[in-house]
Amino acid sequence: MDEATKENETGKTALFWEKGDNGDVRCTLCPRSCNVNPGETGACGARKNIDGKLVSLNYGLMCAAIDPIEKKPLFHWRPGSRILSLGTFGCNLFCPFCQNAHLSRAVTGSGLEKAAPEDVLSLVCDAGIDSAAFTYNEPSVWFEFVLETSRLLKSHGVASVLVTNGFISPDPLEILLQTTDALNIDLKGFSDETYSRLGGSLEPVLRTIFTALSKNLHVEITHLVVPGINDSLEEFEAMIHWVKEMSQGIPLHISRYFPAHGWDRPPTPLQDIKLRMDIASRHLDFVYSGNMRGSNNTFCPKCGEITVVRSPLYEIKVLTGPDGQCPSCKTPMGIVMR
Ligand code: SF4
Repeated sequence: MDEATKENETGKTALFWEKGDNGDVRCTLCPRSCNVNPGETGACGARKNIDGKLVSLNYGLMCAAIDPIEKKPLFHWRPGSRILSLGTFGCNLFCPFCQNAHLSRAVTGSGLEKAAPEDVLSLVCDAGIDSAAFTYNEPSVWFEFVLETSRLLKSHGVASVLVTNGFISPDPLEILLQTTDALNIDLKGFSDETYSRLGGSLEPVLRTIFTALSKNLHVEITHLVVPGINDSLEEFEAMIHWVKEMSQGIPLHISRYFPAHGWDRPPTPLQDIKLRMDIASRHLDFVYSGNMRGSNNTFCPKCGEITVVRSPLYEIKVLTGPDGQCPSCKTPMGIVMR
C-alpha cells in the first residue's frame, strides 16, 4: 500500500455502516452490504475495517482532467461546455469488460494526487469552468469526498455531475442527490441474470434512475453493448420500454464495446449498434451512439429541425433557443443550457 493510502487509514471515517458483535462492521452504502472483518476491506476495495470502524481509503485521493461535457457523455446538459473530471480508485461492480480497470480494480491510491475539496474548487475556478464530474471510477464508493466536495462546489455556484453505475443504497442516494445537478447512469442490461455477471442486481439501478428523475435532476442513460454479456434483443427491448415509461425524452447513449480488462471478445459489430439504435429510436426521442465515428446531432422530435450539431472531435454548435427549445417550432427538448 502506498503512503497516501496508508495515511488515509487513520483518516476519514466512512458514513453508512453499522457495528457488528465481534469487531466486524456492516457497510450499508451499497446493496452488497459487505460484512467487513477487522483489517479487511469491502468488495469495492475502498472501505476498510480499522479497529472496528469503517474508514474510507480513497478519501482525497484523485486524478483530474478537463473534458468536453459530451465526453461524459452528457448531450443535453450545458452542451458545448467543459467540465472538470475527477476519479479515484474502487468500484462496487465487477464488469469483466471495464475500460477503467486500472482505477476501478485498484486497491491503493498509487499514482493519485492527494487533494481536499477546496483544491477541487480551485481547479474549477482556475480553469474558468462551472461544473465538475465524479466519473472515472464509481463515485458512490468515494461517497464522503464526493459529498463534501459537491457541497462546497454548490455553495460557490459550481454544478456537480455523477457518472455512475447507479448501484447504491436508497439513504446515501438521497443525500448525494441533494448536491447533484446531472447524472449519466449506466444501464448495463435489464435482468438480474445480466447484472449477476457483473456482481450486481438490476432493481437498485432502476431505483436510482427513478429517484433522480423524480427529483427533476437531469438524467441521461448509457448502455454499453457487450458481446457475450448483454446481447439479448428481447432484454434490450424490455429495457427501452421501461426507459420510455420513465420519460420518452431521456437521452440514451448506445455505446460500442472494445476489448478491455478481462473480456477479449471482438468489438461490438456495427450492425448490432445500428439495430439497437433503430429499435430505441422508435420509442425514444433522443438516441445517440457512443465509441463510434460519425455525427451525433440532435434533432427536434416534433419538426425535425437540427438543434445541436456535434462533430466527432467535440466541436459543438448549439442552435437552440436560450431555454434549450427548438429554434424553429419552439418545442422544449429538455436541453439544460445553464
Ligand atoms: S460500498 Fe464497498 S464496502 Fe460498502 S457495501 Fe458496497 S462494496 Fe461493500
